[in-house]
Amino acid sequence: MPTLLNAGRSPFGWHRIQSFMQCPTKYYHSYISKESNRTVNRSLIVGSLLHTGMAHRYAIMSYKEDHDLFSPIDAMKEQARQEGELWVEQLPKVLDVYERYIQDADVQLWESNIEVLFVEHIFTINIENYELTLRADLVIRDRTDGKVYFVDHKTSSYVREQTTQGYESSGQFIAYQVLGEQLWQDQFGGLVINYLQHGGFVAKTPTVKFLRVNVQRSQSHMDAFTPSVYFYRRLIEQYQDKPLKQFPRVQTEFTCMHKYGSCDHYDKCFNNNNNKPSQGE
Ligand code: SF4
Repeated sequence: MPTLLNAGRSPFGWHRIQSFMQCPTKYYHSYISKESNRTVNRSLIVGSLLHTGMAHRYAIMSYKEDHDLFSPIDAMKEQARQEGELWVEQLPKVLDVYERYIQDADVQLWESNIEVLFVEHIFTINIENYELTLRADLVIRDRTDGKVYFVDHKTSSYVREQTTQGYESSGQFIAYQVLGEQLWQDQFGGLVINYLQHGGFVAKTPTVKFLRVNVQRSQSHMDAFTPSVYFYRRLIEQYQDKPLKQFPRVQTEFTCMHKYGSCDHYDKCFNNNNNKPSQGE
C-alpha cells in the first residue's frame, strides 16, 4: 500500500505554547487530560485534507526517482476514509478546491520557479535547554532570487489583509524566521503564506482563490522570542504534573467566548445547568 504522509502537528510545537498562553486550563484539556479530544468541524476537516494534498503534491515534485507515496488526490481520499464519515462528506469540496489550485495560472507560474527542499520536515530549535519543534509544511528555493523560504499553507473561508498582519506577531512564524536565519543566513528569504480560500460552506458557488503573501519580519518580535519561549516553557514544566483544580484560567471576556465562537473546552469548564464553573477533576 502506498505511503500517506503525516501533515499533523509536531511533538512540542508552538501550538502547545500558544494554548498555554491563551489559557493554562485549555492546555490541560488539550495536552494533559486523558479525555483530551479536539473538536472537529468542517473547517478543520477541509484544512487538514488540503494540507495532506499539498504535502503529497510538493513531496512528489521533489522526487527525482520513483516513490511510494499516494497521489495527492488518493492521499486526501485515503485520509478521509481512515478518519470517517464526517471527513468523507467534505471530499467533494476539498477535491474541487485542489483541482482549481493545480489549474490556477499564478500557482503554475510560482511552481515553475521553485525547487522543493523539504516537505513536512520537523526542525528543532533549542532554547535554554528546551526544545521547540516545528513541522514545516514546505521549504523551497525560489529560482527568481535564489533564496530559501518557509511556505505555510493556510486554508480559510475568506482571506483578509489583517489576517496576514496578525501572523507577524505569531510565535510560529517568528520561530520560522529565527530558524531560517540560523540555517541559511543571508540566503534566507523569509516566510510565505500560501493561502487557499475555499469560500466557506454557505454559498452555492463559493469564491475559491489562491494567493501567496510574504509575512513581514519584525526585529522586536524576534528579540522577544527567546525570553517568551523560556518563560512559557518553564511555566508549563511547573504545571505539567498538577491536577486540573490547580490550573489557572484566563478569566477575560475574550477567552471562553470569542469572535470565532466558544472555546473547544467550554463544556468541560462550565456547568451547563446553572452556569456555575465546574470544580474540576
Ligand atoms: S472554557 Fe475558558 S477557562 Fe475553560 S479552557 Fe477554555 S478558555 Fe480556559
